[in-house]
Amino acid sequence: DLAHERVRARAEIDLGALRANVRTLRARVAAGNAQVMAVVKADAYGHGAVPCARAALEAGAAWLGTATPYEALALRAAGIEAPILCWLWTPGGPWRAGIEAGLDMTVSGRWALDEVAEAARAAGRPARIQLKADTGLGRNGCLAGDWPHLVGEALKAQDQGLVRVTGVWSHFACADEPGHPSIAAQLAAFQDMLEYAEKAGVEPEVRHMANSPATLTLPETHFDLVRTGVATYGISPSPELGTPADFGLRPVMRLSASVAGVKRAPAGLGVSYGHHYVTDRETTLALVPLGYADGVPRHASGRGPVLVGDKVRTVAGRVAMDQFVVDLGGDVVEPGERAVLFGPGDDGEPTAEDWARAAGTIAYEIVTRIGARVPRVYL
Ligand code: PLP
Repeated sequence: DLAHERVRARAEIDLGALRANVRTLRARVAAGNAQVMAVVKADAYGHGAVPCARAALEAGAAWLGTATPYEALALRAAGIEAPILCWLWTPGGPWRAGIEAGLDMTVSGRWALDEVAEAARAAGRPARIQLKADTGLGRNGCLAGDWPHLVGEALKAQDQGLVRVTGVWSHFACADEPGHPSIAAQLAAFQDMLEYAEKAGVEPEVRHMANSPATLTLPETHFDLVRTGVATYGISPSPELGTPADFGLRPVMRLSASVAGVKRAPAGLGVSYGHHYVTDRETTLALVPLGYADGVPRHASGRGPVLVGDKVRTVAGRVAMDQFVVDLGGDVVEPGERAVLFGPGDDGEPTAEDWARAAGTIAYEIVTRIGARVPRVYL
């Protein structure tokens, strides 16, 4: 049963830490009168969208942000009434449901404007849309050359009562690289595109471009709202910028499992698929029942750190789909002992950042990929 699944493995989610992080972020942007949008896309970076959204709002987040409209609609279905912006639309998306749910819907180009206007006509009420400028990320958003046309068409639709342009926003490419020349260039481009829109008659309720690294290090980018994802979950956007503690943030997720087997093994035993680890002496092996299906990166085979007993050990051999092994050397632990893959780090356990380093990725990916099979337990 599920109670047993929580014994096998669980991701404890410290909502008190999340609330404290939101308050810390609010304090950081308060001087400029900016508000905080808690970004809860991708199931709140693996932490659970609805509980995290509620906790963020309790701590004073003014907005929620999601990538897809379905993520935003799921928050509404859970009874969350706060303003929500969603930004990743595909043709044929649920515009009408978004209008009826009072979502702020991002429009980056002509096809989206046409679709949202048509849905508004059918719904008989205007859609709240926010225009997204590509100021140099080169991903989603409207480039400067197309901006006058998009702004003009959006204002026409607004005059017809089909949309209300509630926001103008953009997103950084390199905010986690201090001094990167694109930062100043994007900020200047945003100011130009915003000024163009406002002169043309757009009266945005919110103007925003800062993600977590910009929120933490670039106060001139805060405008009316900051969109903080990773910092909400107590993770530093980049080890180069500092640790979570340097920013007064506390990691929210703690991933652990119950040691599912302990055995004495002879020297020369090949461990796990491919025999990439071979015991060099008689030793004790412990089995940890978490694998790549649970989000433990296979790329961290032979490298991932795990606290078992009172020491941090290393994954021995390959991470398999559901399990991996650690070599305890001369130590002994009992089956049922907790193996901690990562957490805040206070009790000697590794952090998500340590796993990111071991797997050659970023901590965002470590927490986001923790699989659906791992129960989230809310503290
Ligand atoms: N805004 C947008 C448009 C995003 O896509 C994201 C996430 O990538 C964020 C904000 C939050 O970024 P971060 O997690 O670095 O705060």
